[in-house]
Amino acid sequence: MSSKHPETLALHAGWRRDQSTTAVAVPIYQTTSYQFNDTEHASNLFALKELGNIYTRIMNPTTDVLEQRIAALEGGVAALGVGSGQAASAMAVQNLARVGDNIVASTDLYGGTWNLFANTLKDQGIEVRFVDPSDPQAFARATDDKTRAYYAETLPNPKLRVFPIAEVAAIGRPLGIPLIMDNTAAPLLVRPFEHGAAVVVHSLTKFIGGHGTSIGGIIVDGGNFDWEGHAARQPALNTPDPSYHGAVWSQAVKGLGPIAYIIKARVTLLRDLGAALSPFNAFLFIQGLETLALRMRAHCANSRAVADFLGTHPAVARVIHPSTLTGQDAAWTAKYLAAGQGGLCGFELKGGVEAGKAFINALKMFYHVANIGDARSLAIHPASTTHSQLNQAEQAATGVSPGYIRLSVGIEHIDDILADLAQALDAAAA
Ligand code: PLP
Repeated sequence: MSSKHPETLALHAGWRRDQSTTAVAVPIYQTTSYQFNDTEHASNLFALKELGNIYTRIMNPTTDVLEQRIAALEGGVAALGVGSGQAASAMAVQNLARVGDNIVASTDLYGGTWNLFANTLKDQGIEVRFVDPSDPQAFARATDDKTRAYYAETLPNPKLRVFPIAEVAAIGRPLGIPLIMDNTAAPLLVRPFEHGAAVVVHSLTKFIGGHGTSIGGIIVDGGNFDWEGHAARQPALNTPDPSYHGAVWSQAVKGLGPIAYIIKARVTLLRDLGAALSPFNAFLFIQGLETLALRMRAHCANSRAVADFLGTHPAVARVIHPSTLTGQDAAWTAKYLAAGQGGLCGFELKGGVEAGKAFINALKMFYHVANIGDARSLAIHPASTTHSQLNQAEQAATGVSPGYIRLSVGIEHIDDILADLAQALDAAAA
């Protein structure tokens, strides 16, 4: 599929029809295993001399279509579907950083990623150094010779200030440090590889799935990073891997294209940690992708209308939306979010925590859930839920104040969205 247009790629990339039945919809290959032609075929597959299906823990034909489609949409070379967005974030880092290594991450992260980085990766011997992304040079200052990656979210909630992708990627590239971008909140709106990122991760659970039915994640390899040219900086890809007959990943798969990073993740981490995506969920994510472009347009328009409405409401102390940012944040918004400012919108009520709780409890159409990115409108109070495992200082660093409400604005008619917000604001003020 040669198109560059996301609307077209989302429907056509990676699939035309089933070879044996001519089925047009991507079949759900609900199988664990694949019959090898003979022993030579089997051993070639295991030795990566030939690419093909071995076992669904590490690859599956339904998941393969999803992987190709998202790689095409992001402008990358290959992708790896996994069981959740969390698994994608963890494996994207573990693929490069080992015991004694570190990465530098933005403070503006989803609470689950913050926990993964501050606690679980730390327990595994990987240090995560958090820096404020409003100063890209903070990434350079936190770097030492054990730094293996930079990590950030494109449009992090709750702050909703877009990350300076090109500025930070340009600091890392000459040092051999790739930028990993979590693009969950801005699929189709921002293509991080075009700004110099080397790896993209998504929680598929959100906008890409779009219907609140399935948990999944994906890692996309930009194929644009010189791993071999930075051998000392990236030992995981440039030293023999004892778990794969001493393969040196930057060399071993050269003949298959610039896919060293993603092949290693697939055949070592996914093989060993086993966070596989089910083929059924891959099928549902493919369904979601088909309407993603339409939905993102509606999310962006509705969210902007909600931000404008909240900005004029007397009970609202502050609106957090990319359109309300000023100074450098506004400049980065204009630079990166020209295609749309996303479906998220936050605000703070003048009445603080108690008003926030009353507002949530009064909502009639918005669902009160932990997710974002559904076609339906969603709301939550992060301080008591998604970010509750962080202490108050950590909450403040990620932008969660006690009275903050996060909205994921859906694709319902805007009049119904505003009517539900208006009645809940009245109830909170009463
Ligand atoms: N990244 C971001 C930006 C998220 O918002 C989330 C979940 O809320 C995740 C990653 C984790 O994804 P999952 O819930 O699919 O594990």
